[in-house]
Amino acid sequence: MSEDGKKSQLDEVQLMLIERLSKNDTNGFKQLLGQLKGGVNFVDDSGMSILAHASFKGNKEAVQLLLDMGADINLNQHGADYTPLHFAALSGNTHVCRQLLDAGINPNSINSVSRTASQMAAFVGNHACVETINNYVMRSSLEYYTQLHGQQTEPHIPPVLLKAFHTFVTEINLHPVRITLNAQSLGLLRILPNLRKALVLMCEKEMQKSHDVNELLAFKFHYLGWIVGELMRCEEQFKAQHKEKAEDGGANKNDFIEVFVKRVLKENKLGQLDYVEFTVRECAREFPFRECTIFRQIAAQLGAKDAPPALVILRNAINGMRGFVDESSYCSSCGQEKPDKKCSKCKAVQYCDRECQRLHWFMHKKSCPRLLAAVLAGAKEQPKAPIDTSELHEELAKLSA
Ligand SMILES: [Zn+2]
Ligand SMILES: [Zn+2]
Repeated sequence: MSEDGKKSQLDEVQLMLIERLSKNDTNGFKQLLGQLKGGVNFVDDSGMSILAHASFKGNKEAVQLLLDMGADINLNQHGADYTPLHFAALSGNTHVCRQLLDAGINPNSINSVSRTASQMAAFVGNHACVETINNYVMRSSLEYYTQLHGQQTEPHIPPVLLKAFHTFVTEINLHPVRITLNAQSLGLLRILPNLRKALVLMCEKEMQKSHDVNELLAFKFHYLGWIVGELMRCEEQFKAQHKEKAEDGGANKNDFIEVFVKRVLKENKLGQLDYVEFTVRECAREFPFRECTIFRQIAAQLGAKDAPPALVILRNAINGMRGFVDESSYCSSCGQEKPDKKCSKCKAVQYCDRECQRLHWFMHKKSCPRLLAAVLAGAKEQPKAPIDTSELHEELAKLSA
């Protein structure tokens, strides 16, 4: 009980629950929840709900428990109009942002200083939260594609795949390998043509909205549809090449995934991904809405002298620029952030898991011994920039002065 003179409106259990959350004592919080009388929809003396507290601490377990127990995502009485999503965005926990979005929270709500949750996240540099929120689409808005319209005899997306489709569409990582592995793990490979149609429609629908057009999402849907189209093309080529084998059951029908991933990851002599560069540029050129800002922006950047890789331009256009990007903290195979595993030999490259490592090995096996030698020599791999002789002369002049 508070001893500062002001008597709290809350009972002892409610106070202790908030205290345990603030100390991130999740087990203690769970144990105490059972003793709570009157449900989880109460606010503390400042008007902040317990769900807002859990969100602010980025405590995904507590958030899930509270949501399961019927926590009201719109409950707040503290006057500053921060939703739990604003608090989650400040915590930097993308998982909690996602839980709240899935629970139906409105990402466009503004607080008392007219900022959305995504803007607050950007303000404190929680870029992954910005991306999670900006890439989000409500699952209910995708139900349209699981229904029959007009002359259709089957829906684009079978209703049982709605959840998978939603996960596929809200993915933040735009690397073609991640998109491919997602399509595979989500069971979407068997509906590639319809998946492509749905994405093309989503792009058109987004651009034809009467208000709140989100060009970034429209471009993203176009891009996802494009990569799905590339997968279809690869599958056709693969089938044609393995016709006889397939008839006697020789080739696995998902082997085209391997072919596609290797096509994506194949580096040229300069370590650049030629196929990705070509495909992303082609995709950008074919965006059907030429007048919009994102198209012009991407086209201008692709056309610039010394342009960065097209995939980087696309990623920045859709997800916004990140302040500092340490490329070594991405999976070498699929571009996922903060991967868990390292190559056990050289420890110089990282992967999400064994599958990502396996898929990249055909390229990495060429550089692994060299990277290992560099690590053993106690030096990080030096960037292979050509030596600027005039700069070298200047340095030498300084040294001998
Ligand atoms: Zn990966
Ligand atoms: Zn290695």
